[in-house]
Amino acid sequence: MTPGDEVVVALDVGGTGMKCALVRPDGATVHAERHATDAARGPEAVVGTILDVAEGLAGKARADGRTPVACGIAVPGVVDEARGVAVWSANVGFRDVHLRDLARERLGLPTALGHDVRVGGLAEARLGAGRDAGHVLFVAIGTGIAAAHVVDGSAAVGAHGAAGEIGHILVRPDGPRCGCGRPGCLEALASASAIGRRYAELSGAPATAAEVADRAAAGEPLAGRVWGEAVEALADGLATGQALFDVATIVIGGGLAQAGPRLFDPLGTALRERLTFHREPRLVAAALGDEAGCLGAALLALDTLAKESR
Ligand SMILES: [Zn+2]
Repeated sequence: MTPGDEVVVALDVGGTGMKCALVRPDGATVHAERHATDAARGPEAVVGTILDVAEGLAGKARADGRTPVACGIAVPGVVDEARGVAVWSANVGFRDVHLRDLARERLGLPTALGHDVRVGGLAEARLGAGRDAGHVLFVAIGTGIAAAHVVDGSAAVGAHGAAGEIGHILVRPDGPRCGCGRPGCLEALASASAIGRRYAELSGAPATAAEVADRAAAGEPLAGRVWGEAVEALADGLATGQALFDVATIVIGGGLAQAGPRLFDPLGTALRERLTFHREPRLVAAALGDEAGCLGAALLALDTLAKESR
């Protein structure tokens, strides 16, 4: 066996699908597969699928002459990485699932459990759009908004596994109610779903955030207003992030980043207007797409392995 044969079994479990891969220590994916999460079956069935898929991947690695050395699993919600517990998840239904130990027992491999956005940030900071910066804030904007603060290749977890919840920064005290129950959270104003919802509210016609961006660019006043308000709110949130973390690079990922210059041009300007003595971060689009979670799960597993063998 040569070191080049070693791979990590990596899974990124989302509300609808699981992205799974065998990843080499240098970050190269040698095999990828996708499976349905089918969360409606309940958390126990989902855990069963996760373990079956992970075991299948380890078997696939061995059949191909490779050596699986560790397993990394990323899940959404609140994740206690130190204890390896999926504490809570709205879209998968996890409640205190000891996923790390279950996978370790099944596979017989050192296993790490991580938060999907935090490991996504880890991957973007080490392998993607933030790779030349020591201090990176990764912000994923989709149905919600969450962030990962990565310093020298390691993501802050927080005392309770809940660091990076930038979507719940209060930006408009009189704003729409957030899913967390409080009015005015960033997520309730600037997530892709919030943008679609706001446009539908004002126009009476449903639209996705991407359609709002298109219509704003085409000069439709209502779309321009909705898009502009979301960008302003986002800039408020990012300015708070920059005041707290003083990063070199802010990487924007998730569905909203697909809007490209329609997002990044006005957002860069609005962020600049809000900074006084703080240094302006580089504002860039994520580079790894929806593979970031899987690659990050692999990186977290390799970090765990390195710590254990020390
Ligand atoms: Zn909230």
